Amino acid sequence: MVTVEERLDALTRQGELYERLDDKAVRCYACGHRCLIREGRRGICKVRFNEGGELRVPWGYVSGLQVDPIEKKPFYHMFSGGDALSFGMLGCDFHCSYCQNWLSSQTLRDPASDASGRYIRQITPEELVEYGLRGGAEVVASTYNEPLITSEWAVSVFKIAQEKGMKCVFISNGNATPEALDYLRPYLAGYKIDLKTMQDKQYRRLGGVLQHVLDSIQRAHELGLWVEVVTLVVPGFNDSNEELMDAARFIRSVNEDIPWHVTAFHPDYKMTAPPRTSAKTLLRAAEIGQEAGLRYVYAGNLPGSLAEYEHTYCHQCKTLLIERYGYVILSYRITAEGTCPKCDAKIPGVWTNRPDQVRIGGPGFPRPVR
Ligand code: SF4
Repeated sequence: MVTVEERLDALTRQGELYERLDDKAVRCYACGHRCLIREGRRGICKVRFNEGGELRVPWGYVSGLQVDPIEKKPFYHMFSGGDALSFGMLGCDFHCSYCQNWLSSQTLRDPASDASGRYIRQITPEELVEYGLRGGAEVVASTYNEPLITSEWAVSVFKIAQEKGMKCVFISNGNATPEALDYLRPYLAGYKIDLKTMQDKQYRRLGGVLQHVLDSIQRAHELGLWVEVVTLVVPGFNDSNEELMDAARFIRSVNEDIPWHVTAFHPDYKMTAPPRTSAKTLLRAAEIGQEAGLRYVYAGNLPGSLAEYEHTYCHQCKTLLIERYGYVILSYRITAEGTCPKCDAKIPGVWTNRPDQVRIGGPGFPRPVR
């Protein structure tokens, strides 16, 4: 029987984000781990490996493919009401104990997730983009698993998507390198980054390094990408006032216009002890974000419970601009020029120039591609 590892290893090609070293070793710089990989060995993510002094990287398949409302990614300031063709592969450079996508992210790391092998579907970039066009998606998102570790595949898809007029985005843990961001920059319009905690000690428990993530937020913003930041608020892990304020102040120091999403945790994978995040806790987190000076703070995963923080208001005159319930747009008032219709303030983000075509009352849930 063919193992998941054998199947995945066959679906690879030579990488671009690496350098060759002496003795057939390589240094991968697709993510902040910068693995030194000797011949015959694998990187921390397990899906990139050294074969004969060449770095092999995932290419030519997806394990998840569907059309998501773009608010689900979440992007609230980018083509609101539109759809994102969302694709994912397998593997991750982190091992978060509360991962909600652990079945696809922990492949080759946790034997319990090897069942994800049955979702592997060979596909070409052209076919993938075609699905998006047929589904009416304006955006293509590399998501579900960590896209940095499969950057070369994403770029193959994005090149074609861009030719067809689509915008491309990453939904990432932010453990990037400057080289990876520079490599992706010509194709990326948006970058969603998780800021999971402000304690380096906690980040290391998840397999990351706080400073890498902070640097990525800064650099992605400087490169001109549209950045939105998400913090999953986990009771007892990262929900103290001090830590939430640290996170908000950091984002504010990069730019006050970066939207910050504070979202609700539910027990998953190996983290089953903490309770679900309450609406009260999310409200506290959102208020801290505003107090820190962020102009756009959103609370997610509890539709209808924190209405005020689901909607977008003009930062200048407080006019209600986008009304949401979960991933559904209830009303939309941003002009074709991306301004507030009442006070003309420029609303930060990437908006459609056809506001009359924004889908009101859309499905609000993912759909399979056809
Ligand atoms: S993507 Fe990251 S974890 Fe994977 S081999 Fe490269 S540097 Fe290592």
